[in-house]
Amino acid sequence: MSEVSDLLSGLIKLDTTNPPGNETIAAEYLKAYLEAAGLECELIARAPERANLIARIRGTGDGPSLLLLGHTDVVLADPKEWQVPPFSGEVRDGEVWGRGALDMKCQVAANAVAIASLAREGFRPSGDLIFAATADEENGVGFGLEWLCEEHPDAVRADFCVNEGAGDRLRFGDDAYYLCSSAEKKSSPFTIRALGRSGHASMPGIADNALVKAAKLIERIAAFTPEPQIQQEVAAFLRTVLGEVPAAASALDRARELDPVAADLVEPLLAATFSPTMITASRKRNVIPAVVEVTVDCRLLPGQTTEHVEPMIRAVLGGDLEYEIEWLESKGGTRSPLDTPLWEAVESFVSEIEPGARAVPICVAGFTDSHWLRDAFGTVAYGFFPLRTMAAEVAASLIHSANERIPVADLELGLDWIRHAARTVCA
Ligand SMILES: [Zn+2]
Repeated sequence: MSEVSDLLSGLIKLDTTNPPGNETIAAEYLKAYLEAAGLECELIARAPERANLIARIRGTGDGPSLLLLGHTDVVLADPKEWQVPPFSGEVRDGEVWGRGALDMKCQVAANAVAIASLAREGFRPSGDLIFAATADEENGVGFGLEWLCEEHPDAVRADFCVNEGAGDRLRFGDDAYYLCSSAEKKSSPFTIRALGRSGHASMPGIADNALVKAAKLIERIAAFTPEPQIQQEVAAFLRTVLGEVPAAASALDRARELDPVAADLVEPLLAATFSPTMITASRKRNVIPAVVEVTVDCRLLPGQTTEHVEPMIRAVLGGDLEYEIEWLESKGGTRSPLDTPLWEAVESFVSEIEPGARAVPICVAGFTDSHWLRDAFGTVAYGFFPLRTMAAEVAASLIHSANERIPVADLELGLDWIRHAARTVCA
Protein backbone atom coordinates (compact mmCIF):
# COMPACT_ATOMS: atom_id res chain seq x y z
CA MET A 1 0.00 0.00 0.00
CA SER A 2 1.17 3.53 -0.66
CA GLU A 3 1.91 6.01 2.12
CA VAL A 4 -1.17 8.14 1.35
CA SER A 5 -3.65 5.25 1.08
CA ASP A 6 -2.22 3.79 4.29
CA LEU A 7 -2.70 7.10 6.09
CA LEU A 8 -6.24 7.52 4.70
CA SER A 9 -7.19 4.01 5.69
CA GLY A 10 -6.05 4.69 9.27
CA LEU A 11 -7.92 7.99 9.32
CA ILE A 12 -11.18 6.37 8.17
CA LYS A 13 -10.90 3.81 11.00
CA LEU A 14 -11.23 6.69 13.52
CA ASP A 15 -14.96 7.36 13.85
CA THR A 16 -15.39 11.15 13.73
CA THR A 17 -19.09 11.21 12.94
CA ASN A 18 -20.37 14.72 13.64
CA PRO A 19 -22.28 15.08 15.90
CA PRO A 20 -20.56 14.45 18.25
CA GLY A 21 -17.36 14.74 16.16
CA ASN A 22 -14.58 13.51 18.48
CA GLU A 23 -12.07 14.92 16.00
CA THR A 24 -9.26 14.89 18.59
CA ILE A 25 -8.56 11.22 17.77
CA ALA A 26 -7.92 12.22 14.14
CA ALA A 27 -5.88 15.29 15.14
CA GLU A 28 -3.62 13.16 17.37
CA TYR A 29 -3.21 10.46 14.74
CA LEU A 30 -2.10 13.07 12.18
CA LYS A 31 0.10 14.85 14.72
CA ALA A 32 2.07 11.65 15.38
CA TYR A 33 2.52 11.14 11.63
CA LEU A 34 3.60 14.75 10.96
CA GLU A 35 5.94 14.97 13.95
CA ALA A 36 7.74 11.89 12.67
CA ALA A 37 8.55 13.97 9.58
CA GLY A 38 9.95 16.73 11.80
CA LEU A 39 7.05 19.19 11.58
CA GLU A 40 5.98 21.59 14.32
CA CYS A 41 2.40 20.72 15.32
CA GLU A 42 -0.16 22.40 17.53
CA LEU A 43 -3.53 21.14 18.76
CA ILE A 44 -5.99 24.00 19.24
CA ALA A 45 -9.30 23.07 20.79
CA ARG A 46 -12.31 24.90 22.15
CA ALA A 47 -13.41 21.62 23.75
CA PRO A 48 -10.87 18.84 24.52
CA GLU A 49 -12.55 16.25 22.29
CA ARG A 50 -12.94 18.65 19.32
CA ALA A 51 -9.30 19.52 18.52
CA ASN A 52 -8.01 21.18 15.36
CA LEU A 53 -4.46 20.40 14.25
CA ILE A 54 -2.13 23.00 12.73
CA ALA A 55 1.34 22.21 11.36
CA ARG A 56 3.67 24.35 9.31
CA ILE A 57 6.94 24.68 7.47
CA ARG A 58 8.02 28.25 8.17
CA GLY A 59 8.84 30.42 5.20
CA THR A 60 12.38 31.70 4.77
CA GLY A 61 11.21 35.08 3.50
CA ASP A 62 8.04 37.04 3.08
CA GLY A 63 6.69 35.12 0.08
CA PRO A 64 3.03 34.12 -0.11
CA SER A 65 1.71 31.63 2.41
CA LEU A 66 -0.39 28.61 1.44
CA LEU A 67 -2.85 26.81 3.68
CA LEU A 68 -3.68 23.16 2.97
CA LEU A 69 -7.12 22.89 4.54
CA GLY A 70 -9.27 19.87 5.35
CA HIS A 71 -11.93 18.90 7.84
CA THR A 72 -11.65 15.67 9.81
CA ASP A 73 -15.31 15.20 10.77
CA VAL A 74 -17.69 13.09 8.69
CA VAL A 75 -21.43 12.61 8.38
CA LEU A 76 -23.41 9.67 9.77
CA ALA A 77 -23.07 6.26 8.10
CA ASP A 78 -25.63 3.49 8.50
CA PRO A 79 -23.67 0.17 8.28
CA LYS A 80 -26.80 -1.66 7.05
CA GLU A 81 -26.60 0.23 3.74
CA TRP A 82 -22.91 -0.48 3.14
CA GLN A 83 -21.10 -3.36 1.40
CA VAL A 84 -18.16 -2.97 3.83
CA PRO A 85 -18.25 -1.58 7.38
CA PRO A 86 -18.11 2.21 6.95
CA PHE A 87 -15.24 2.65 9.40
CA SER A 88 -13.14 -0.25 8.09
CA GLY A 89 -10.86 1.75 5.77
CA GLU A 90 -10.67 -1.43 3.71
CA VAL A 91 -8.67 -1.36 0.48
CA ARG A 92 -10.47 -3.42 -2.13
CA ASP A 93 -9.83 -3.59 -5.89
CA GLY A 94 -7.63 -0.52 -5.86
CA GLU A 95 -10.04 1.65 -3.86
CA VAL A 96 -10.03 2.83 -0.23
CA TRP A 97 -13.52 2.35 1.26
CA GLY A 98 -15.23 4.09 4.13
CA ARG A 99 -17.00 7.17 5.42
CA GLY A 100 -14.92 10.23 4.58
CA ALA A 101 -13.04 8.58 1.69
CA LEU A 102 -14.25 11.43 -0.58
CA ASP A 103 -15.56 14.01 1.91
CA MET A 104 -12.84 14.72 2.82
CA LYS A 105 -10.36 12.53 4.64
CA CYS A 106 -8.83 11.81 1.20
CA GLN A 107 -7.66 15.39 0.90
CA VAL A 108 -6.62 15.57 4.57
CA ALA A 109 -4.42 12.50 4.03
CA ALA A 110 -2.98 13.91 0.79
CA ASN A 111 -2.29 17.25 2.51
CA ALA A 112 -0.49 15.46 5.36
CA VAL A 113 1.65 13.31 3.06
CA ALA A 114 2.41 16.33 0.86
CA ILE A 115 3.71 18.50 3.70
CA ALA A 116 5.50 15.56 5.38
CA SER A 117 7.24 14.51 2.17
CA LEU A 118 8.25 18.11 1.41
CA ALA A 119 9.63 18.47 4.95
CA ARG A 120 11.65 15.26 4.59
CA GLU A 121 13.05 16.53 1.29
CA GLY A 122 14.17 19.74 2.99
CA PHE A 123 11.72 21.96 1.05
CA ARG A 124 12.24 25.61 2.03
CA PRO A 125 9.23 27.73 1.05
CA SER A 126 9.60 31.51 0.96
CA GLY A 127 6.22 31.94 2.69
CA ASP A 128 4.68 29.60 5.28
CA LEU A 129 3.28 26.28 4.12
CA ILE A 130 0.49 25.49 6.59
CA PHE A 131 -1.45 22.28 7.20
CA ALA A 132 -4.81 22.50 8.98
CA ALA A 133 -7.02 19.55 9.88
CA THR A 134 -10.11 21.17 11.34
CA ALA A 135 -13.13 20.00 13.31
CA ASP A 136 -16.82 20.58 12.87
CA GLU A 137 -17.35 21.45 9.21
CA GLU A 138 -20.35 19.18 8.68
CA ASN A 139 -22.39 20.51 11.58
CA GLY A 140 -20.79 23.94 11.96
CA VAL A 141 -21.54 24.89 15.56
CA GLY A 142 -18.32 26.74 16.37
CA PHE A 143 -15.46 24.31 17.06
CA GLY A 144 -13.70 24.46 13.71
CA LEU A 145 -12.42 27.01 11.22
CA GLU A 146 -14.96 29.72 12.01
CA TRP A 147 -13.79 29.67 15.64
CA LEU A 148 -10.10 29.52 14.64
CA CYS A 149 -10.48 32.57 12.39
CA GLU A 150 -11.99 34.50 15.29
CA GLU A 151 -9.94 33.29 18.25
CA HIS A 152 -6.65 32.08 16.74
CA PRO A 153 -6.30 34.05 13.49
CA ASP A 154 -2.50 33.73 13.42
CA ALA A 155 -2.80 29.94 13.23
CA VAL A 156 -4.81 29.92 9.99
CA ARG A 157 -4.20 33.27 8.28
CA ALA A 158 -2.87 32.66 4.76
CA ASP A 159 -2.65 34.36 1.37
CA PHE A 160 -3.79 31.23 -0.47
CA CYS A 161 -5.74 28.13 0.46
CA VAL A 162 -6.55 24.81 -1.19
CA ASN A 163 -9.76 23.31 0.19
CA GLU A 164 -12.54 20.94 -0.87
CA GLY A 165 -15.34 21.86 -3.28
CA ALA A 166 -14.51 20.54 -6.75
CA GLY A 167 -12.03 18.65 -8.91
CA ASP A 168 -14.45 16.63 -11.03
CA ARG A 169 -13.38 15.78 -14.55
CA LEU A 170 -16.04 16.35 -17.21
CA ARG A 171 -16.10 15.70 -20.94
CA PHE A 172 -18.00 17.94 -23.34
CA GLY A 173 -17.65 16.54 -26.85
CA ASP A 174 -13.98 15.63 -27.33
CA ASP A 175 -12.69 17.96 -24.66
CA ALA A 176 -11.93 17.28 -21.00
CA TYR A 177 -12.33 19.83 -18.20
CA TYR A 178 -11.53 19.85 -14.49
CA LEU A 179 -13.78 21.95 -12.26
CA CYS A 180 -12.21 24.18 -9.63
CA SER A 181 -14.52 26.04 -7.27
CA SER A 182 -13.63 29.67 -6.65
CA ALA A 183 -16.91 30.99 -5.24
CA GLU A 184 -20.00 29.83 -3.45
CA LYS A 185 -23.59 30.94 -3.39
CA LYS A 186 -25.03 32.48 -0.24
CA SER A 187 -27.60 30.47 1.67
CA SER A 188 -30.31 32.94 2.75
CA PRO A 189 -33.47 31.06 3.74
CA PHE A 190 -36.57 33.02 4.67
CA THR A 191 -40.09 32.52 5.92
CA ILE A 192 -43.20 33.83 4.23
CA ARG A 193 -45.86 34.23 6.91
CA ALA A 194 -49.32 34.27 5.32
CA LEU A 195 -51.80 36.11 7.53
CA GLY A 196 -55.57 35.54 7.82
CA ARG A 197 -58.22 35.09 10.52
CA SER A 198 -59.00 31.86 12.35
CA GLY A 199 -62.42 30.30 12.65
CA HIS A 200 -64.25 26.98 12.92
CA ALA A 201 -63.62 24.90 9.84
CA SER A 202 -67.34 24.03 9.59
CA MET A 203 -68.08 27.70 8.75
CA PRO A 204 -65.33 28.78 6.31
CA GLY A 205 -67.21 31.95 5.43
CA ILE A 206 -66.53 33.58 8.80
CA ALA A 207 -62.74 32.99 8.61
CA ASP A 208 -59.94 34.10 6.32
CA ASN A 209 -57.92 30.96 5.62
CA ALA A 210 -54.18 31.65 5.70
CA LEU A 211 -53.45 28.21 4.22
CA VAL A 212 -55.35 29.04 1.05
CA LYS A 213 -53.43 32.33 0.81
CA ALA A 214 -50.17 30.48 1.37
CA ALA A 215 -50.97 28.16 -1.55
CA LYS A 216 -51.09 31.16 -3.89
CA LEU A 217 -47.91 32.66 -2.42
CA ILE A 218 -46.08 29.31 -2.80
CA GLU A 219 -47.05 29.09 -6.46
CA ARG A 220 -45.84 32.61 -7.11
CA ILE A 221 -42.46 32.22 -5.39
CA ALA A 222 -41.84 28.79 -6.95
CA ALA A 223 -42.48 30.17 -10.44
CA PHE A 224 -40.11 33.10 -9.90
CA THR A 225 -37.00 33.09 -12.09
CA PRO A 226 -35.10 36.36 -11.79
CA GLU A 227 -33.46 37.98 -14.78
CA PRO A 228 -30.31 35.94 -15.57
CA GLN A 229 -26.90 37.57 -15.15
CA ILE A 230 -23.43 36.30 -15.95
CA GLN A 231 -20.97 36.62 -13.09
CA GLN A 232 -17.22 36.15 -13.42
CA GLU A 233 -17.13 32.38 -12.74
CA VAL A 234 -19.84 31.65 -15.30
CA ALA A 235 -18.17 33.99 -17.81
CA ALA A 236 -14.84 32.19 -17.41
CA PHE A 237 -16.57 28.79 -17.60
CA LEU A 238 -18.48 29.66 -20.79
CA ARG A 239 -15.45 31.30 -22.40
CA THR A 240 -13.45 28.11 -21.83
CA VAL A 241 -16.08 25.57 -22.94
CA LEU A 242 -17.79 27.60 -25.73
CA GLY A 243 -14.94 29.84 -26.83
CA GLU A 244 -17.06 32.95 -26.11
CA VAL A 245 -19.39 34.43 -23.51
CA PRO A 246 -22.96 34.53 -24.89
CA ALA A 247 -25.61 37.01 -23.76
CA ALA A 248 -27.12 36.16 -20.37
CA ALA A 249 -30.52 35.40 -21.94
CA SER A 250 -29.09 32.71 -24.23
CA ALA A 251 -26.40 31.34 -21.90
CA LEU A 252 -28.47 28.41 -20.67
CA ASP A 253 -29.52 27.34 -24.18
CA ARG A 254 -25.96 27.56 -25.44
CA ALA A 255 -24.72 25.45 -22.51
CA ARG A 256 -27.47 22.90 -23.18
CA GLU A 257 -26.52 22.63 -26.86
CA LEU A 258 -23.01 21.76 -25.77
CA ASP A 259 -24.02 19.23 -23.12
CA PRO A 260 -26.92 18.82 -20.66
CA VAL A 261 -24.38 18.55 -17.82
CA ALA A 262 -23.00 21.99 -18.74
CA ALA A 263 -26.55 23.38 -18.54
CA ASP A 264 -27.09 21.76 -15.12
CA LEU A 265 -23.90 23.43 -13.88
CA VAL A 266 -24.72 26.87 -15.25
CA GLU A 267 -28.44 27.09 -14.49
CA PRO A 268 -28.32 27.73 -10.70
CA LEU A 269 -25.46 30.23 -11.21
CA LEU A 270 -27.36 32.67 -13.43
CA ALA A 271 -29.64 34.00 -10.70
CA ALA A 272 -30.82 33.58 -7.13
CA THR A 273 -32.96 30.46 -6.64
CA PHE A 274 -36.11 30.02 -4.52
CA SER A 275 -37.34 26.60 -3.37
CA PRO A 276 -40.24 26.42 -0.89
CA THR A 277 -39.48 23.38 1.29
CA MET A 278 -41.42 23.52 4.59
CA ILE A 279 -44.84 24.61 5.81
CA THR A 280 -46.66 24.83 9.14
CA ALA A 281 -50.38 25.54 9.34
CA SER A 282 -53.21 24.71 11.74
CA ARG A 283 -52.54 22.13 14.45
CA LYS A 284 -56.17 21.03 14.40
CA ARG A 285 -58.18 19.69 11.50
CA ASN A 286 -61.28 21.68 12.43
CA VAL A 287 -59.54 25.05 13.00
CA ILE A 288 -58.90 27.36 10.06
CA PRO A 289 -55.38 28.79 10.56
CA ALA A 290 -54.83 32.52 11.02
CA VAL A 291 -51.09 32.17 10.33
CA VAL A 292 -49.21 29.84 7.98
CA GLU A 293 -45.42 29.80 7.72
CA VAL A 294 -43.70 28.70 4.51
CA THR A 295 -39.93 28.28 4.62
CA VAL A 296 -38.12 29.02 1.37
CA ASP A 297 -34.60 27.76 0.70
CA CYS A 298 -33.04 30.73 -1.08
CA ARG A 299 -29.54 30.79 -2.61
CA LEU A 300 -28.20 34.18 -3.63
CA LEU A 301 -25.37 34.85 -6.05
CA PRO A 302 -22.05 35.93 -4.51
CA GLY A 303 -22.31 39.66 -3.81
CA GLN A 304 -26.11 39.74 -3.64
CA THR A 305 -27.73 40.78 -0.38
CA THR A 306 -31.13 40.13 1.13
CA GLU A 307 -31.85 43.90 0.96
CA HIS A 308 -31.24 43.68 -2.77
CA VAL A 309 -33.59 40.75 -3.46
CA GLU A 310 -36.42 41.44 -1.01
CA PRO A 311 -38.10 44.06 -3.26
CA MET A 312 -38.04 41.53 -6.13
CA ILE A 313 -39.64 38.90 -3.88
CA ARG A 314 -42.36 41.33 -2.77
CA ALA A 315 -43.07 42.28 -6.37
CA VAL A 316 -43.54 38.62 -7.26
CA LEU A 317 -45.74 37.85 -4.24
CA GLY A 318 -48.00 40.76 -5.16
CA GLY A 319 -50.03 43.17 -3.05
CA ASP A 320 -53.37 41.34 -2.90
CA LEU A 321 -52.57 38.90 -0.05
CA GLU A 322 -51.45 39.76 3.46
CA TYR A 323 -48.05 38.32 4.43
CA GLU A 324 -44.75 39.08 6.18
CA ILE A 325 -41.21 38.07 5.21
CA GLU A 326 -38.61 37.06 7.79
CA TRP A 327 -35.03 36.29 6.82
CA LEU A 328 -33.65 33.42 8.90
CA GLU A 329 -29.87 33.60 8.38
CA SER A 330 -27.28 34.35 5.72
CA LYS A 331 -24.21 32.21 5.27
CA GLY A 332 -21.54 32.14 2.57
CA GLY A 333 -21.62 34.00 -0.71
CA THR A 334 -17.92 34.84 -1.03
CA ARG A 335 -15.61 34.48 -4.03
CA SER A 336 -11.93 34.64 -4.88
CA PRO A 337 -10.42 36.25 -7.98
CA LEU A 338 -9.16 34.08 -10.84
CA ASP A 339 -6.03 35.98 -11.93
CA THR A 340 -3.86 34.53 -9.18
CA PRO A 341 -0.75 32.34 -8.83
CA LEU A 342 -2.94 29.61 -7.31
CA TRP A 343 -5.17 29.58 -10.39
CA GLU A 344 -2.04 29.33 -12.55
CA ALA A 345 -0.99 26.36 -10.42
CA VAL A 346 -4.36 24.67 -11.05
CA GLU A 347 -4.05 25.28 -14.79
CA SER A 348 -0.45 24.10 -15.04
CA PHE A 349 -1.27 20.95 -13.05
CA VAL A 350 -4.24 20.10 -15.27
CA SER A 351 -2.21 20.45 -18.46
CA GLU A 352 0.56 18.35 -16.91
CA ILE A 353 -1.71 15.42 -15.99
CA GLU A 354 -3.82 15.54 -19.14
CA PRO A 355 -2.46 17.48 -22.11
CA GLY A 356 -5.29 19.36 -23.82
CA ALA A 357 -7.56 19.32 -20.76
CA ARG A 358 -8.54 22.67 -19.26
CA ALA A 359 -9.30 23.92 -15.75
CA VAL A 360 -12.63 25.74 -15.42
CA PRO A 361 -13.88 27.77 -12.47
CA ILE A 362 -17.22 27.09 -10.90
CA CYS A 363 -19.34 28.70 -8.21
CA VAL A 364 -20.71 25.96 -5.94
CA ALA A 365 -24.20 25.97 -4.51
CA GLY A 366 -23.10 24.46 -1.19
CA PHE A 367 -21.16 26.00 1.69
CA THR A 368 -17.51 25.26 2.51
CA ASP A 369 -15.01 26.49 5.09
CA SER A 370 -13.35 28.59 2.34
CA HIS A 371 -15.93 31.23 3.22
CA TRP A 372 -14.43 31.92 6.67
CA LEU A 373 -10.95 32.51 5.26
CA ARG A 374 -12.15 34.79 2.46
CA ASP A 375 -14.25 36.70 4.94
CA ALA A 376 -11.62 37.03 7.69
CA PHE A 377 -8.38 37.52 5.75
CA GLY A 378 -9.25 37.97 2.07
CA THR A 379 -7.56 34.62 1.42
CA VAL A 380 -7.67 33.36 -2.17
CA ALA A 381 -9.34 29.99 -1.52
CA TYR A 382 -10.20 27.38 -4.14
CA GLY A 383 -11.81 23.99 -3.86
CA PHE A 384 -9.77 21.56 -5.93
CA PHE A 385 -8.94 17.88 -5.52
CA PRO A 386 -8.80 16.31 -9.00
CA LEU A 387 -10.55 13.00 -9.71
CA ARG A 388 -9.49 11.40 -12.97
CA THR A 389 -10.13 7.68 -12.44
CA MET A 390 -13.50 7.93 -10.69
CA ALA A 391 -16.27 9.42 -12.85
CA ALA A 392 -17.73 12.68 -11.54
CA GLU A 393 -21.29 11.31 -11.38
CA VAL A 394 -20.14 8.26 -9.39
CA ALA A 395 -18.31 10.47 -6.88
CA ALA A 396 -21.34 12.76 -6.57
CA SER A 397 -23.58 9.78 -5.80
CA LEU A 398 -21.26 8.49 -3.03
CA ILE A 399 -20.64 11.69 -1.03
CA HIS A 400 -22.74 11.64 2.18
CA SER A 401 -24.08 8.28 0.94
CA ALA A 402 -23.37 4.56 1.27
CA ASN A 403 -20.24 2.82 -0.09
CA GLU A 404 -18.16 6.00 -0.21
CA ARG A 405 -14.72 5.17 -1.61
CA ILE A 406 -11.85 6.63 -3.63
CA PRO A 407 -9.51 5.00 -6.15
CA VAL A 408 -5.93 4.86 -4.86
CA ALA A 409 -4.90 6.30 -8.24
CA ASP A 410 -6.97 9.45 -7.55
CA LEU A 411 -5.58 9.72 -4.06
CA GLU A 412 -2.07 9.74 -5.49
CA LEU A 413 -3.12 12.21 -8.17
CA GLY A 414 -4.44 14.47 -5.40
CA LEU A 415 -1.17 14.12 -3.51
CA ASP A 416 0.72 15.18 -6.68
CA TRP A 417 -1.58 18.20 -6.97
CA ILE A 418 -1.00 19.36 -3.40
CA ARG A 419 2.76 19.01 -3.79
CA HIS A 420 2.57 20.91 -7.10
CA ALA A 421 0.53 23.71 -5.48
CA ALA A 422 3.00 24.06 -2.59
CA ARG A 423 6.00 24.14 -4.88
CA THR A 424 4.47 26.60 -7.33
CA VAL A 425 2.75 29.02 -4.95
CA CYS A 426 5.21 29.33 -2.07
CA ALA A 427 8.51 28.36 -3.65
ZN1 LIG B 1 -16.65 18.23 3.26
